[in-house]
Amino acid sequence: MDGAQTSSTTAYSLPTLRYALDALEPLVSADTLELHYHKHHAAYVKGANAALEELAETRRSGSFTDIGRLEKNLAFNLSGHILHSLLWRCLTPDGGGRPDGVLGPSIDTCFGAFDAFKDELSAVATSVQGSGWAALSWDPVGQRLITEQIYDHQGNHGVGTVPIVVIDMWEHAYYLQHQNRKDEWVESFWKLVDWKDASKRFERVQRSEAGLR
Ligand code: FE
Repeated sequence: MDGAQTSSTTAYSLPTLRYALDALEPLVSADTLELHYHKHHAAYVKGANAALEELAETRRSGSFTDIGRLEKNLAFNLSGHILHSLLWRCLTPDGGGRPDGVLGPSIDTCFGAFDAFKDELSAVATSVQGSGWAALSWDPVGQRLITEQIYDHQGNHGVGTVPIVVIDMWEHAYYLQHQNRKDEWVESFWKLVDWKDASKRFERVQRSEAGLR
């Protein structure tokens, strides 16, 4: 626990990458990953912790005039932190192919076939307007996998859904290498996706109804 935190919870921190910054070359350049991880993701971690600190201060002061801004900051930065932490786990130098474990059959059930799912999530990704994400998510209420198009980091997704596989479609994820050619980044993503990890995560998530049903 961070001693500087006054609340009883742990401060957010940048997770350790499971691979070197150049390990995803040439599909994701070391420059892109370095900037994405050390600058962009780190900024969301800092922003989430700052928002919590400011909310704690607001609570202490008893004056809630600025709370709307703080809630927006927390939602944006915390969601940015969570999605990026998940993104790094979705990538591996040994990735690609098709989902194994329990995830493969569930994708077939929910989307008809893997190729149909891949086409759908690619379309979700490349049609993001502005900044956002494409996600394969678990809906614990309907007990099904769905695709979601997330605005920024925190908008346009169902409350309570749990992202399993995410594709970052902010320009910082691909612009250094691909400029405006979003589809090239999405193609690279499919060659790097860590289905083993995604399937293990899905197994854990699927067992939980998150108290929502
Ligand atoms: Fe990003």
